[in-house]
Amino acid sequence: MTASFSLHGIGVSHGIAIGRAFLVSHATLEVSHYEIPSDQAAAEVRRMERAVKEVRHELKALRAEMAAGERFEEIEAFIDVHETMLGDEILAGNVKTYIVEHCCNAEWALVQQMNLWVAQFEQFEDSYLRERKFDVMQIVERILKHLMGRPGTLPKVGDDSHMVLVAHDLSPADMMQFKHRHFVAFVTDLGGATSHTAIAARGLGVPAIAGTRHARQLLRDGEMVIVDGTRGAVIVNPDHAILSEYRKLQQIQESRQEALKTLKRRRPRTRDGVEVTLLANIETADDLDRVRESGAQGIGLFRSEFLYLDQDTLPDEDTQFKAYREVVEGMEGRPVTLRTLDLGADKMRGGIDSLARVAPNPAMGLRAIRLCFAEQPLFMTQLRAALRASAYGKIKLLVPMLSGGDEIHPLLAAVEEAKRKLDEEGVAFDRALEVGAMIEVPSAALALGPFLRQLDFLSIGTNDLTQYLMAVDRTDEAVSYLYNPTHPAMLRLLAHILKRARQFEMPISLCGEMADDPQMTWLLLGLGLREFSMPATGLLAVKERVLRADVGTLQKTVARIVRAEDPEKVKAMIEKLNRG
Ligand code: PEP
Ligand code: MG
Repeated sequence: MTASFSLHGIGVSHGIAIGRAFLVSHATLEVSHYEIPSDQAAAEVRRMERAVKEVRHELKALRAEMAAGERFEEIEAFIDVHETMLGDEILAGNVKTYIVEHCCNAEWALVQQMNLWVAQFEQFEDSYLRERKFDVMQIVERILKHLMGRPGTLPKVGDDSHMVLVAHDLSPADMMQFKHRHFVAFVTDLGGATSHTAIAARGLGVPAIAGTRHARQLLRDGEMVIVDGTRGAVIVNPDHAILSEYRKLQQIQESRQEALKTLKRRRPRTRDGVEVTLLANIETADDLDRVRESGAQGIGLFRSEFLYLDQDTLPDEDTQFKAYREVVEGMEGRPVTLRTLDLGADKMRGGIDSLARVAPNPAMGLRAIRLCFAEQPLFMTQLRAALRASAYGKIKLLVPMLSGGDEIHPLLAAVEEAKRKLDEEGVAFDRALEVGAMIEVPSAALALGPFLRQLDFLSIGTNDLTQYLMAVDRTDEAVSYLYNPTHPAMLRLLAHILKRARQFEMPISLCGEMADDPQMTWLLLGLGLREFSMPATGLLAVKERVLRADVGTLQKTVARIVRAEDPEKVKAMIEKLNRG
């Protein structure tokens, strides 16, 4: 038996998954793109041919190995498919033509072709054929590993076909690509608790561990792994005792999820009668089924930029309008808080990349509303699409990354301009469309007056607010030990924002990942929060905490917590608060 070992990282999405490692190498995700002189194109084609030949040898060797020992039908079938693909003249021909026509490196040409093939496989009605895209991805991976001088091992296909995606890093755009592929867990070397991989994994309700540093290097394709997202541990090649222990834990976890479902129709009201609103965060209309299952009262955060992330070109007004309308209609009258583009920083892709110059410090650069102000046509297209969709249900417009009151006037002017144009064209929209701001930059949080006076609602983005208040990159595992949404400074700021909003009777929600953590629910209720927005998969666990809360008592204890200045002491006080 292969040796068992474990790796540790940051558990960014709770729960337990057991499956087989599916390694996504830097190969497909991080392949470099460079030009080659046209007279070297033929040599580049030969390099590609050599790599294909080496993969053929590898498959042949595996077949021979199997003939000599135990036979696995699945592996033979898998080799057949891969050999057929390798032998396909059209596939190989396309890559070679791409190299010659674009004078680019073989790796790049191969990945471009792979994307086309995967898209073609995805069109198939038949699910078996659709699944073949995985074979395409795996064979391309193998060729890439040879091209890059890092041959890999073949995935072992056993009785357990659940796959755990293991990658060095996953960008939000990669995550979009992998979201629909039914991985049972995600493990990445890089990333922090509020990186978008983590957020997407929580949205899917699957365990995830970030910041393992070496998982991609140490794991092999097809190895059995247990992912314990609660403890942040990956156990590789577990022995029988560990495996059966985890299977039991997994069952307990599943029964708990089942039990929570009985709360779906319960009104979120605390023991002492305080009404609470529980909303869902979504990325695309695909998340709506989970939202309905959770009994959410609306969408508190629709991260609209995800519509842009899996495209190579910017979606036009009609494409956006249709996407927004689908969500609004799907929510059947419940409100949808549509956040305007939050592109920039780590959320970049395709057609958008060209819009943002390479910023020296992207998280502080031309991100979100700043990019929208700099690219007015981009913003206008989205505003028009959102306004048009507002004729089909309740939409509220939420604007990210405003850093001060002086940005409010140009923002409202842009909205008015979009309305005026639609009026001229006789297009219907909701005239009372509410406009609100994300409070996620400390300067906005501390000088809140203009936001309270000029806007209709606020939503606190604790993911970024923590990042900017503490100067800790939320995606960098090297500093993740400092990233602390319950740092005394954060709690004071949250208390301040909520108090000011209450004085102004300003509707305010919190849509950062803090809202999704049941260990934070009582703290936030005690701070005065009444509206929470989170991934739908976490909503019922938060509702359970709300139903058991007594706000009167919580307020008194939380007031003491806010006065404390020592982070360790605050942590202990919150733990005590949660014990009741
Ligand atoms: C936040 O910053 O808390 C937030 C909800 O937005 P995002 O995670 O998309 O930046
Ligand atoms: Mg944010």
